[in-house]
Amino acid sequence: MEKITNSPEETFGFGYELGSRALPGQIYCLDGDLGVGKTVFTQGFARGLGIEEPVNSPTFTILQQYEEGRLPLYHFDVYRIGDVSEMDEIGYEDCFYGEGVCLVEWAGLVPEILPEQVIRIRIEKEPEKGFDYRRITVDEPGKE
Ligand code: ADP
Ligand code: MG
Repeated sequence: MEKITNSPEETFGFGYELGSRALPGQIYCLDGDLGVGKTVFTQGFARGLGIEEPVNSPTFTILQQYEEGRLPLYHFDVYRIGDVSEMDEIGYEDCFYGEGVCLVEWAGLVPEILPEQVIRIRIEKEPEKGFDYRRITVDEPGKE
């Protein structure tokens, strides 16, 4: 699936749609350059799950957990991770294989711990199409 957005609000809205439909146990892997909109997407996604509190990039803690929505949300941002063993230290397995929903910004930095069945979301700019243009590609196993 591919979605073009032309503003942060549209990317938020697309995140919201996916968050509204998210199911227990799903892992959403978000990749794309710095400043492309991963956190904006995540904020919409969280709102779609019914989370009202503000969501930011948990860059210095790697993991931020939200319990107030329809399902627990485990928001990882692994941008500053030094070694994948840090994921063990924060107990990522309980999140990945639990009943909540995981969303991992910069998932491409920790390929060795990602299960096969993850939903991959890539956000890309295309400078010649304007400053706010984003192409969001969603790859879900078993879906076109
Ligand atoms: P990341 O988490 O990928 O580093 P952020 O979500 O923190 O990026 O920041 C994205 C920035 O890009 C925000 O300042 C946002 O306002 C801006 N932006 C401009 N156009 C878009 C768009 N179409 N979708 C998402 N963000 C956009
Ligand atoms: Mg971010």
